Amino acid sequence: MNGKIVKVSGPIVVAEELDGAGLGDVVRVGEEKLIGEVVKLTAGRAVIQVFEDTRGLGPGMPVTAIGAPLSVALGPGLLGNVYDALQRPLAKKQDPVTAISQTREWEFVPAVAVGDVVTGGSIIGTVAETPAIAHKVMVPPGISGVVEAVRYGFFTARQTVCKLKTDGGQSREITMTQEWPVRVSRPVLRKTAPATPLCTRQRGIDTLFPLVKGGAAAVVGPSGSGKSVLLRKIVQCADVDVVVYIGCGARGSEVAQLLQTLPELLDSKNGEPLIKRTVLISNTADMPTAAREASVYTGVTIAEYFRDMGYDVAVIADSITRWSEALREMSDKLSETPCEDGYPAYLASRLAQFYGRAGCVQCLGDGGRTGTLTALGAVSPPGGDLSEPVTQATARMVKAFWVLDGFLATARKYPAIDREKSWSMYPDTLKSWYDGNFGPEFLANRDRASALLRDERELVNFTGTLSAQSRLKLETAKMIREDFLRQSAFDDRDSCHAYEHQATLLSLILYYFDLCNDALEKDILDPEPLFNIPTRTQISSAKAITELERYRQIARDMELQVEAAIGGQEA
Ligand code: ADP
Ligand code: MG
Repeated sequence: MNGKIVKVSGPIVVAEELDGAGLGDVVRVGEEKLIGEVVKLTAGRAVIQVFEDTRGLGPGMPVTAIGAPLSVALGPGLLGNVYDALQRPLAKKQDPVTAISQTREWEFVPAVAVGDVVTGGSIIGTVAETPAIAHKVMVPPGISGVVEAVRYGFFTARQTVCKLKTDGGQSREITMTQEWPVRVSRPVLRKTAPATPLCTRQRGIDTLFPLVKGGAAAVVGPSGSGKSVLLRKIVQCADVDVVVYIGCGARGSEVAQLLQTLPELLDSKNGEPLIKRTVLISNTADMPTAAREASVYTGVTIAEYFRDMGYDVAVIADSITRWSEALREMSDKLSETPCEDGYPAYLASRLAQFYGRAGCVQCLGDGGRTGTLTALGAVSPPGGDLSEPVTQATARMVKAFWVLDGFLATARKYPAIDREKSWSMYPDTLKSWYDGNFGPEFLANRDRASALLRDERELVNFTGTLSAQSRLKLETAKMIREDFLRQSAFDDRDSCHAYEHQATLLSLILYYFDLCNDALEKDILDPEPLFNIPTRTQISSAKAITELERYRQIARDMELQVEAAIGGQEA
């Protein structure tokens, strides 16, 4: 299986006499055994992309085929870890195989007994990996049989916890770790239709451009518009069990900042540090480009593994643009024919191999377990041009497209969501969820809010004297923008806002509109007092309210104040 290098060109190495290596196989290159992957096979030669710094490599040096594709190790101990693109713990540059600790012992509690029939995906036991997440130890896909032995106790992730007599009659030992090739999606029983929202607890998103569990979304905007802040907010606030965050081509300082804040931030659900439900993949701008391409697949495979346990998982890639640029750079080094803007022809299909792995599924194994995988990515189109290839390819793959505007961000109007360019196809998907949880008012209010914002855009350009009704529309639209959509990412009382409270806050603002509108219909002489009632100040700080009763109190006060404002004025 030993070959030798004939040529080195940056991250690309050409080797010959590398018998037995298939396309996509991992190879070890040079004396230092750098990790590479076979990307092309031609006439006795293998073209290899090397995921590490190739300085020091030269012709004649050995290349060894591993005989397996690029894979990740999946087992207890993933949560809270920070890995590089090849799943090597960032803290210590170890072999990928030691991504899962070899020495740490876990308390394994069996979920099956001798004589039970199990198949790929069946849960054979659990490990309390963190206080909030029970790690379900599953039979690897493709294996089935009868349990011959299973034991309770403390084991490392690589020790045998269960023995099966497989359908083929052989004995097979099962450990708590399984390997899976990163470029292949993990099998599921079937995909199902998404039906519940993924609450980001960001009002501008949940109410106007929602996301679903099992869906796909992109946040698009120029540098500095707040994409990373928004995605980090989603790491913190979204109602999912596990988050895999891929810092892909990000600045080292950004990942460092995330690493610093995650252990301090607490999960709103259980008060545990957020790091305990997070896996971080870091491929910062200063790391080798070739590995960047692999990083998103490493991340999404780990995410699928937790989905298979029956969890709601989010995988976040920041940024897809940096990732595509790495793809372009590698394609250029491989002398492939470039397409639009120099990107390779397979840009869209590679992107689909990331986003396409999102979905709601019925998990393999014991019927009835469902899991979801939601995929999010950041895109920064050069020059803000949304027609460039990466943005276009992304737009075809996601169903929620959040555009952030540079001017709004400069004006510090956060989150800087451009309401004209953003869209979500999920409100229809969520109709029965909304109707069941908040009644039909929710979608009606959403439409009314959007209509008022549209009216505002027209009215601000109007030069004549505005009618009292039009002025009311402007006042209400301003409340929707400033009191509802504006949301601080850094104020703890405001940064995570539950769906129920968002719905109540928006209906309170629209209730103000209705009360005033009714009053105006009575032909009152002076509408000004209506625009200055004291409860408006309360509404502007109402996002910090945590008890729904307080909203009801404001509504009652508002009724009295509107009454007083028109008192004696009726014609
Ligand atoms: P991008 O990822 O789009 O380049 P960032 O998310 O890094 O931009 O945001 C740049 C800066 O803008 C942040 O460091 C922060 O100061 C500010 N910012 C972005 N979003 C918000 C927000 N929601 N609230 C307050 N400040 C924000
Ligand atoms: Mg960013």
